[in-house]
Amino acid sequence: MSSFDSTGSSHAPGDGGDNTGPGDRSAPDRRSPDAIVVGAGLAGLVAAHELTQAGKRVLILDQENRANLGGQAFWSLGGLFLIDSPEQRRLRIHDSLELAKDDWATSAGFDRDEDHWPRKWAEAYLEFAAGEKRRYLRDLGLRLTPIVGWAERGGSGAGDHGNSVPRFHLTWGTGPEVVRVFRQPVETAEAAGLVEFAFRHRVDELITEDGTVVGVRGRTLAPSHTARGVESNRDELADFELRAPAVIVTTGGIGHNFELMKKYWPVDRLGEFPDTMLAGVPAHVDGRMLQIAEDAGASLINRDRIWAYTEGIENWNPIWPGHGIRIIPGPSSMWFDAEGNRFPAPNYPGFDTNRTMRTILETGHDYSWFVLNESIIRKEFALSGSEQNPDLTEKDIRITLDRVRSSDAPGPIEAFKKYGSDFVVAETTEELVAGMNERSRGPVIDHDHLVEQIRQRDRQTEHAFSKDAQVQAIHNARSYLGDKIVRAVKPHKILDPAHGPLIAVRLSLLSRKTLGGLETNLDGQVLAGPGAGEEGGREAERTPIPGLYAAGEVTGFGGGGMHGYNALEGTFLGGCIFSGLRAGRAAAEQAGRAVTSLRPESGSARGEAAHS
Ligand SMILES: Cc1cc2nc3c(=O)[nH]c(=O)nc-3n(C[C@H](O)[C@H](O)[C@H](O)COP(=O)(O)OP(=O)(O)OC[C@H]3O[C@@H](n4cnc5c(N)ncnc54)[C@H](O)[C@@H]3O)c2cc1C
Repeated sequence: MSSFDSTGSSHAPGDGGDNTGPGDRSAPDRRSPDAIVVGAGLAGLVAAHELTQAGKRVLILDQENRANLGGQAFWSLGGLFLIDSPEQRRLRIHDSLELAKDDWATSAGFDRDEDHWPRKWAEAYLEFAAGEKRRYLRDLGLRLTPIVGWAERGGSGAGDHGNSVPRFHLTWGTGPEVVRVFRQPVETAEAAGLVEFAFRHRVDELITEDGTVVGVRGRTLAPSHTARGVESNRDELADFELRAPAVIVTTGGIGHNFELMKKYWPVDRLGEFPDTMLAGVPAHVDGRMLQIAEDAGASLINRDRIWAYTEGIENWNPIWPGHGIRIIPGPSSMWFDAEGNRFPAPNYPGFDTNRTMRTILETGHDYSWFVLNESIIRKEFALSGSEQNPDLTEKDIRITLDRVRSSDAPGPIEAFKKYGSDFVVAETTEELVAGMNERSRGPVIDHDHLVEQIRQRDRQTEHAFSKDAQVQAIHNARSYLGDKIVRAVKPHKILDPAHGPLIAVRLSLLSRKTLGGLETNLDGQVLAGPGAGEEGGREAERTPIPGLYAAGEVTGFGGGGMHGYNALEGTFLGGCIFSGLRAGRAAAEQAGRAVTSLRPESGSARGEAAHS
């Protein structure tokens, strides 16, 4: 029997074949929970944290083992979108809520009736990112590096998609640190008996009685001793049924479910779904829970809004099946299609993800090429992922400073140059093109055609001014201090042997984020969808399903898609934190007055704040 009220389970919560961590050693709490959180990723941990701050008892279920605690966020770079922060001001970036609202509106392009709640979430999230967010995370012990990155620069025009200014703040400690600041207080609450984890518990159904969600049903899965991120077995052991006044779904997106992605892929906006797409997320990001919630009457919106990347490379040392890594590029690499034609403006590295996706897929091929040289790779290539940035992840100041000062590329990038199947390193253009053609999944690239385009571009670096829009963009980037120091190399000739050797990188498409999902109001309550045969009415008229909340990527990071069509980056972790916080606080309120005697010592101050 499960230790919280349950029926039919042959396994106790916490017993998932992992049997590590404080919860498994302490005596299980026999009281029924105030809330069940489905999904122990970042959004689930934030919601659980807020619930425990209000003295509520929480049961957290996850289909994976304890080693996976924190979900995708652990693997993340920990990039956080903040507006008008001290870090920005120190780098002479003048940001404001008004500017960020403009950027968000032009990027999101909200244009549907269903965008009623996504718009409201976007507005509330921007206020959060300009205000409480930094303080909230700081109070939990999270610190930022001094460098602010400039992601999604746009490049089309003032009224189009993109960040007008750098806003991508890097967590000191990357994703594991983002997880830690929530995991630790939740584990403290676990030791105090307020939280219980039930790993290897896969939810297959939401129990609805008289229109209210009252619990969950599912199956326990056979123990798994796999390491974090490694695909685990799906062998079923026994049924379970668990009940609570509030159920919060925080099960993530669809990034590893290629069938679902293909089904909802917006062919009209982005082109045909590619034959080859690398997996940017672990296998547990399976999207199953979306259908399960819809079957329980939930409204699912904006399923065709998907945020996949165009700069994916095969991980030479994969953790999950099809594991791809995203290059987060600086602005100097030249970008060519599969036939060796340079992409037109503004398809430059790091400018406009969806536009580049469409441009690539319009070629009829699902890959493209960066061409660059040693000087560019050393300064401009960053790899997304905590494990690809051991200096920042381990909070090692010496190695981090070495990265800035060193004349070599960071170790993980050197490893990709050496072992990565997508990399060509060559002394001559003939060798380079031959290497590209060996790795081609399509047409043969003509040497002279490719090299002539590089020469033409190189001639445009001879002056401080240029007619080449990408070279202009590099000058523009270098007028921002942060880019000048760590991100954008001084314009020079790519073919200059002093900057060699030459490098080409084959880029595949890479899955990652889900921008649509369960429709929620600002309390994280899941709204009811139109019943069978019923017309979908105005979104403002939709009513919440009593007892059911959701947060994180499963809600498109808030409301069913607070990003609209495009993201400004660093907004996903923040979206999980903000929506987890709102859902956790609202569910705590629903569960009634705080049981103050059960509140863990460490969190009492914030617990009071949560009530005020
Ligand atoms: C490599 C990488 C880099 C990233 N970098 C950044 C970044 O720098 N900045 C940024 O903002 N975002 C970044 N992201 C995105 C961000 O990390 C995710 O969007 C976010 O962590 C999602 O959190 P979540 O809690 O909503 O879902 P998840 O982390 O996916 O957690 C969901 C949990 O629910 C469980 N689950 C699912 N279904 C069930 C079920 N039926 N029953 C029981 N359990 C279930 C899963 O096992 C999982 O543990 C990155 C992501 C990756 C993978």
